Parts: sequence; C-alpha cells; structure tokens
Amino acid sequence: MSKFHSNISRRDFMKGLGLTGAGMSLAAAGGPLFHDLDELAAGADTHHYRKWWQKERDFEDLTTPIDWDMFRPYDTRKLYMLPLSLVKRQADERNARHVRDVADNTPGGTLRDIALDEATYDNFNMQHLGWQGNIRTASPADRGLPAWQGAPEDNLQMMRAAAHFYGAPRVGAIEVNEHTKRLFDLGTTIWEDIPAAYIDAAGVYHIPSRCRWILTWLTKQNYPQSLYALRTDDTGPDRNKTFELGQASRNASYSHAPQIRWNVTGFLHGLGYLALQPEVRANVPFGLFSGLAEQGRTAYCCSPDYGLSIRYVDWAITDLPLQPTRPIDAGVTEFCKSCKRCAEICPPGALSLDDDTSWEVAGQWNRGGFKGFHQHWQKCAEWGGPHDCSNCQMTCPFNHPPDASIHNMVRAASAVTPALNGFFAGMDRAFGYGRQKSDAEREDWWQRDLSKWPYDELKGFGVKDW
Ligand code: SF4
Ligand code: SF4
Repeated sequence: MSKFHSNISRRDFMKGLGLTGAGMSLAAAGGPLFHDLDELAAGADTHHYRKWWQKERDFEDLTTPIDWDMFRPYDTRKLYMLPLSLVKRQADERNARHVRDVADNTPGGTLRDIALDEATYDNFNMQHLGWQGNIRTASPADRGLPAWQGAPEDNLQMMRAAAHFYGAPRVGAIEVNEHTKRLFDLGTTIWEDIPAAYIDAAGVYHIPSRCRWILTWLTKQNYPQSLYALRTDDTGPDRNKTFELGQASRNASYSHAPQIRWNVTGFLHGLGYLALQPEVRANVPFGLFSGLAEQGRTAYCCSPDYGLSIRYVDWAITDLPLQPTRPIDAGVTEFCKSCKRCAEICPPGALSLDDDTSWEVAGQWNRGGFKGFHQHWQKCAEWGGPHDCSNCQMTCPFNHPPDASIHNMVRAASAVTPALNGFFAGMDRAFGYGRQKSDAEREDWWQRDLSKWPYDELKGFGVKDW
C-alpha cells in the first residue's frame, strides 16, 4: 500500500515527520531514523517501558507549567458536589433513556447491553457474593421492564460474548435432569416448584424447578507465570515444593474468579434471571459435562486449549434458557494414556501410572461410577498439594501457548489419531518443557522487558498494552 488516507504517500508522510534521511530535521535528532513506515511502526517497542517518541523532562517541569507561589494543597472544602436533586434527576433521566432504548430495541442500549454494564458496578461488594450471585445489579422488574427474551442458542452466544469480556475464555451449558442433579453434593440441593430460591435451616439449597440449566465458564490461570512455581529439584528440605514467584499466578486466578463470578451472575440478574451457586465440592464434572475440557490423568479438567493451566470451572444454576453444550473428544484423555508426565513428576505418587483408565477408585474420597483417572487425594494433600506443589499442573503438554505452531499441530494430530501420542509426549520431555527455571531466570523476572512481555494480564488490555 503506497498511499494511506487516500492522498498522502508513505514517503511524503515520512518526509513530513523529518524521520527519514540523515539529519533531515530536529524531529529526528532525539530519536532514531527510519527508512520506511513499517520500520517506524515496528520501532515503537524498541525502547524499554516507554515509546521512543515519549521524551522525559526534568522533575517538576511538566508540559503544564507550575507556579509554586500559586500551587497549594487541594482544599477539599471547595470540591463541587452535585446537589442530590440533580443526582436524582440524572438517575431518573438515565433510567428513562434505558426504558426508551429497550422499548426501541436500540443496538447498544438493549436490556443485555445495560445488564452487561451494570454487572460491573459495585465490585467493592464482590467479596460478599452470596450463593444467589450478584443481586445488586438492577433487575428489569426494577424498571418495570420484562425479562430478556431470547432463543436458547442465542442466549448461549450472548453469555459467551459477555463472559469473554469479563475474563472467561470458554462458556458451556448443562441441562438439569435426574442424572446431572447428581453432580451436586449428596443431600445438599433439591429442585421443587417454588417461586424463589432459599436455603433452609439444615443448609439444604432449594432451587425453583424452572432453573433447568447450569451455565459453566472457565477461569484461566496464567501458565507462563505458573512455570516459575515448578521446583523439580528433589534434594534438600524444600525438595519438589513450589516457588512463590509462580504460585502468585495460581492465587491471582483465585482473586480473578470472584470478580468474573460477580460480573457473570450480575449480568444474569440484570437480564431478569437467577444465578444460583449452592456449595459443591467438585467443580470438575461441570467442565466435563459441558464440554469445556476432558478429564486428564490428574483427575481434574484438562482443556484441549489450555491444558491443566485452568484454575477453576465456575458455574451457576439459572432459569435463562440455554442451548446445552456437548462433551468433547479432542483426544486429551487418550493422550493421557501414553503421556504420564504429570504422574511421573508427582512427588508422593498420587497419580496413576496405569496405561489405561479404570473403574477402580483410588480411595473413598473419589466419586466413582466412571471409567477414568482417579487421584489419591490423601497422598496429594499430605504432600502439600495444591498449596505447596503444582508440579502435575505445570508439566502438561496441553498447557503450551500457541507461540509456536508446532503446539497446535500436535493438538490437532492427537485429536485425530493416538498413534503419535507417545512420540509427542517424549518430544515434550526432550525439549525440556515443564522444567524448573534456573535461579537466574527467577531473578531476571523482576527485570523483564515489559514492552515485550506478553504474559501479564493487564486489566483493560488483555496481555500487552499498546
Ligand atoms: S499437586 Fe498433588 S497430584 Fe499434583 S504433583 Fe503435587 S502432590 Fe502430585
Ligand atoms: S501431563 Fe500428560 S498425562 Fe497428565 S494430564 Fe497432561 S496430557 Fe494428561
């Protein structure tokens, strides 16, 4: 493209900036010279932390000059506070605008748009999220509006779009029936013909029978950061225990989860529906039954996209009709049969090294009733997992980000045929993935080039600022 914005050539633009040719202008004096626009654009990240065209000035020499004879500490008594009458009038006007936009079906102002926005309010109260989810979001009834109406498949897509924005990369749905009710803990949750949900004195959750769907979503864990947790050195008193530098990633996921939950459940409430979360010990089946993952050798969810680097399958029972999503076969469980990396690296031997899945449980703590992998939870817990050990989680070949195309090729090949699974797992070992970082690498983390590091979750940006 030799022209952009229709009438300026790329060369003219460069000339105008004085950024091409030796010593063409003062503009070039403080920065690098570029031969063309592509080089100029690529040069944005050549300087650490700040772009090359962002120059530093002296301390206190702002581009808005200061007069220190005039500049005083701020007098908060002079802060302009909107009169309450005006606050109320603006709120009334906003509400009227919402009602009109919903009635007119104005794109960007429909009930789902309003709910998307309002579910982000009041995160201050997030830590007090109860089992009925974020009910602080205004419901349509509060505005005299009907609840959101959509076909189940459209509702699923809507939930995927909203949850992705809030931070959950994958969303699924399970239909409640006599089988899937068994995913809940024994004697804790019953469905019945009642208008409103409640919890009784014995702690039993009563769910209105119209709540016939379980929405599920993934909370991701930052894998590149988690790798800093690995301690595979099996000597000394701290043998095989975790490094906190990486463990911070696990704990960050636990702090992300309530925020995403606050947003997603608030969104459902803003649409006019329930979002209930009775206490449940195991979240894994929700991921498996809704197709967010397969069961890995570790006995927990292994995502074909993110491997074991997911912290949590979150979920809410709802009366919003949802198109159920099917369990998946991406070759993960099959791959596990020949991989065994997580089991080999488990210090107390809590994971099965068998060549196949089994109906036999590893202990009374296992649910049973399925042919899969069963974890010896007692051994894991007594070793200190998951607080002081995350070796199994960090060695899974499915964890790899798709930085190198080979990782997605391996994923695709494994889904089509198990013939190469053993070879792929061996390759993962040979390339040294899932190894303990060196002392120098852990130290260097604090000096990493932030202009290039793509792995931090920057709120509002994704993984890298612009
Ligand atoms: S977290 Fe538990 S299962 Fe995983 S490697 Fe450590 S001890 Fe083994
Ligand atoms: S490390 Fe290997 S065996 Fe373990 S869950 Fe991942 S793919 Fe399966």
